[in-house]
Amino acid sequence: MRPQILFPLFVSVSSLKGVGPKILPLVEKLAGPLARDLVFLAPQGVIVRTQTDTAMARDGEVQTFTVRIEAHLPPHRPSGPYRIRAFDGSGFLYLTFFKGGGSHLLRQHPVGSDRVVSGKVERRAVELQIAHPDYMVPVERAGDIPDVEAIYPATAGVSSRVIRKLVLEALERAPELPDWLDPAFAAREKLPHWREALAALHAPRSETDLMPQSVFRRRLAYDELLAHQLAMAERKAGRKRQSAAAIPASDIARQAEAALPFSLTGAQIRSLSEIRGDLMGGERMSRLLQGDVGSGKTVVAMLAMADVAAAGRQSVLMAPTEILARQHYETLAGPLEAQGVGVVLLTGRDKGLARTEKLKALTSGHAAVAVGTHALFQDDVSYRDLALSVIDEQHRFGVADRRRLQEKGAAAHLLAMSATPIPRTLELTVYGDLDVSRLDEKPPGRTPVATRAVPMPRLPEIVGRLKSAVDGGAQAFWICPLVAESEDSDLVAAEHRAQSLKAIFGDKVGLIHGQLPNAQKDAVMAQFVDGNLAVLVATTVVEVGVNVPNASIMVIEQAERFGLAQLHQLRGRVGRGARESSCVLLYDLPLGKTAQARIDILRKTDDGFLIAEKDLELRGGGDPLGLKQSGFPAYKLADPVAHRDLIQTAADDARLVLSRDPEFKSPRGRALLALRALFDWKAEAPDVG
Ligand code: ADP
Ligand code: MG
Repeated sequence: MRPQILFPLFVSVSSLKGVGPKILPLVEKLAGPLARDLVFLAPQGVIVRTQTDTAMARDGEVQTFTVRIEAHLPPHRPSGPYRIRAFDGSGFLYLTFFKGGGSHLLRQHPVGSDRVVSGKVERRAVELQIAHPDYMVPVERAGDIPDVEAIYPATAGVSSRVIRKLVLEALERAPELPDWLDPAFAAREKLPHWREALAALHAPRSETDLMPQSVFRRRLAYDELLAHQLAMAERKAGRKRQSAAAIPASDIARQAEAALPFSLTGAQIRSLSEIRGDLMGGERMSRLLQGDVGSGKTVVAMLAMADVAAAGRQSVLMAPTEILARQHYETLAGPLEAQGVGVVLLTGRDKGLARTEKLKALTSGHAAVAVGTHALFQDDVSYRDLALSVIDEQHRFGVADRRRLQEKGAAAHLLAMSATPIPRTLELTVYGDLDVSRLDEKPPGRTPVATRAVPMPRLPEIVGRLKSAVDGGAQAFWICPLVAESEDSDLVAAEHRAQSLKAIFGDKVGLIHGQLPNAQKDAVMAQFVDGNLAVLVATTVVEVGVNVPNASIMVIEQAERFGLAQLHQLRGRVGRGARESSCVLLYDLPLGKTAQARIDILRKTDDGFLIAEKDLELRGGGDPLGLKQSGFPAYKLADPVAHRDLIQTAADDARLVLSRDPEFKSPRGRALLALRALFDWKAEAPDVG
């Protein structure tokens, strides 16, 4: 399948000169297993070497000198440095070596020889020195020293220079390829050709060349985004070609809806009709239902499941934790069973006869709806006719898990649900292969959460207020940040806080964190849900989506360390009941500008999508919203924030190409096949279906 012209790039890095068994694993870790990965390894910085002399040398800069070797000065003590004194006509330069090598240095650079020396200059008292010069060559080889040098990621055992050499070697293997860009677009954006952009990527002349907005970077970023969008568009089209059960809207669902103690919001009505449109169509649905915590996703899913049951088929709702599964079950079971729809709850806790009974109900079709955890797709679980899989917090499941669930039904419709608000601009990079419905309207009657920022020195006052609230029956989350280099020290901080709160609240304080086994996490959470705990101290593992209506206070320590979207999600865990709710953002002084801006936005709005968009603006780069763990693609060359103006274009481009030339027969189509093979997204991208 891979075009032959790309073969030279799809060879192991071990085939490059100088990659022996010792550094192979290190190079693979830094770049990846293939020459292609080295070619796509972006420099992290650039060294610009200036030619100078000792009179003009500048401390801390990387500079190049032409000198004569004057004397070799072996160490006085065994552990001392070996030094070479050199002179350039205006002053001395000391070249310092820490790991011995005296006789070797004497042979290479004898007294009286002329050398060009380059490295980072340090001024020590009156002495000028370079420790371990980067280059030290005879004058006639001065040309070996690059004036400008890209810096690459490195580790102990593999220096940036070694990586650079490998990158340049791999680059030589990169062929000229026919251009896959739309010529009009390339011309308008002034994008250089692929091969030229790559060469420029690895030969930056200044920091400016490394900026995301340089035309070279934009070209390569666009390529990567286009390849990704193409892969997602193809996957989506592939799913749509599969036929699936056509399921009409039903009386059962209408009656279940009418029996609800509330009426659906406009956003729920719209989302439900989008889902129904898919279910009726006869093509396999792949839809994401996105909405803040508390926006009412479960009810929408429930009504779709009612339609499926009315059609005589089955559906499952899978949640990442037992406690969430149980909450969903409690929401669904009543309304569905009232309409004669059988519902079972299946989790890891079911054992023995009870489990056997539940499995039987699923195999026979007696139960039309199953709610549960990973237990839903175990090998011995089978369904009579699974037609719809609903996956809550879908990014919390691995690709393999989602696939195993999907395989329980031939071409089951998929409805994924997520409470992670993603700005519209980035949605395409995460969910480009899904259709998206948004719940952007909250059910009425929610009391807005009063949000206040309080400096840490006023902690005792906050604890005092918490005490009187708890005495009045309130419950509170107390979040400690997960920020330190090691999870252990975060844990210590959370344990500390739990201890000090116990001194005031006694055994009504619980602690939950990422290192607890799942069963224990569930147990602590359950105690909190049941009201046996009044204060739950947590690192950010607090389950998204867990409903604790009685919890009305959210305290977030070191709030300045959290991203805006995270703060919003945490705050969303309160304000679900009748009780007036509050969110206290404790921060360490002095408060930075960005942190202040975040807090201001939070106080002004409660709209997750708007907040996500603002967060993006405030961050301007890096890992937006800490999304890497939520299935965000790991781009090599594109920065989804800096290059966000290219995302929509790439998505439109991909869709257009696929509709005009689905078999890649045109010249541009053939060129795109090479692009697709270069990036290999098919194998890597998270596949929901
Ligand atoms: P999500 O899964 O999006 O976080 P849920 O589906 O758990 O939200 O809904 C949160 C709460 O809001 C539930 O108690 C649910 O019964 C309630 N709810 C859902 N839709 C509405 C509505 N339209 N009006 C009032 N309450 C609603
Ligand atoms: Mg939910």
